Amino acid sequence: MSLKEHITDIIRAEGPISIARYMDLCLYHPQLGYYMTRQPMAAGGDFITAPEMTQAFGEVLGAWVIDCWQKLGSPTEWALVELGPGRGTLMSDVLRVMQRHAPQAYAGCKIHLVEISPVLKQAQQEMLQGHAVAWHQGIEALPQLEVPLVLLANEFWDALPIQQFVDGEERMVTVDAGGALAFTLPAGHITETCPALPCLVQRLKAITTAPCYQLYIDYGAEGTADTLQAMRQQKFTSPLEAPGEVDLTAHVNFAALKAAFGDNWGYIDQAGFLFRLGFPVRAARLMDAAKTPQEREKIALNCAKIIAPDGMGSLFKVGCFYTQGLATPAGF
Ligand code: SAH
Repeated sequence: MSLKEHITDIIRAEGPISIARYMDLCLYHPQLGYYMTRQPMAAGGDFITAPEMTQAFGEVLGAWVIDCWQKLGSPTEWALVELGPGRGTLMSDVLRVMQRHAPQAYAGCKIHLVEISPVLKQAQQEMLQGHAVAWHQGIEALPQLEVPLVLLANEFWDALPIQQFVDGEERMVTVDAGGALAFTLPAGHITETCPALPCLVQRLKAITTAPCYQLYIDYGAEGTADTLQAMRQQKFTSPLEAPGEVDLTAHVNFAALKAAFGDNWGYIDQAGFLFRLGFPVRAARLMDAAKTPQEREKIALNCAKIIAPDGMGSLFKVGCFYTQGLATPAGF
């Protein structure tokens, strides 16, 4: 049975389902869900993320992590956590920088990866061979930590299921007369909420009893509109067309993150953050080291995209939650 047939059966039996339940089935159904069966970030995959575009991204985040470790007092034991590590590329770039520039930080670090997808977990195991890594299926499954901690998450929140409301009424997914999946309410003035967010943030705020820095990078803004989107092979498609076969996400509401994280939270544009961390300098170094003009051109293009003022540079925001009393993290 296809996921579309399965969802159609559920709706015929129970009536229209919420968009959150629809997303949950599409992304996380144990056999047919998108993240259970697919490798979305491979070459020719459905979407491409900043760490997959250039190693400069992970490398400057590596420098950011080392700076946080120092601001935490250079602890001999500490934890480095990543939520939704994808293929493991970001973590691999971060660890290489740590090994080279802060071997003491590297030596004392226990790595925790939170990953729901068995396919991506396997990719991470291959990418991170030789490092001290523990895997957890979800944030709820993380053990209570008692050491200083640095957390990274790139494009994690956007994958979480959302609900939509039109004038206070919830927009649902139903089956139309022709048997196709359809939304129940016309797309008027839509607002969105991410029902799992407040609870996950409470858990993350208490992730360790010791001080911590947590960095969240994602696309979105304050407030919401209709931002539910589906991507297949790097092109937008209809969220209802091929459930389980396309990536489904929504923009992250940074006002909701602010409300949940409280006072010790701030965010800025990705471009501003990366400029302050010296991303263009690192990009120029990589271009100088390129072996062919084509490779040089590719680095230039991808790095420019990540900080483009009318593209990823402003669409993506970088938010940080950190324990009261710690020094302001680099880039903010
Ligand atoms: N950070 C990576 C991948 C982003 S895609 C990058 O920048 O390339 C989203 C990632 O979050 C994937 O690894 C996906 O499997 C994981 N993920 C999505 N929902 C999750 C959930 N509820 N719990 C844990 N991991 C999840």
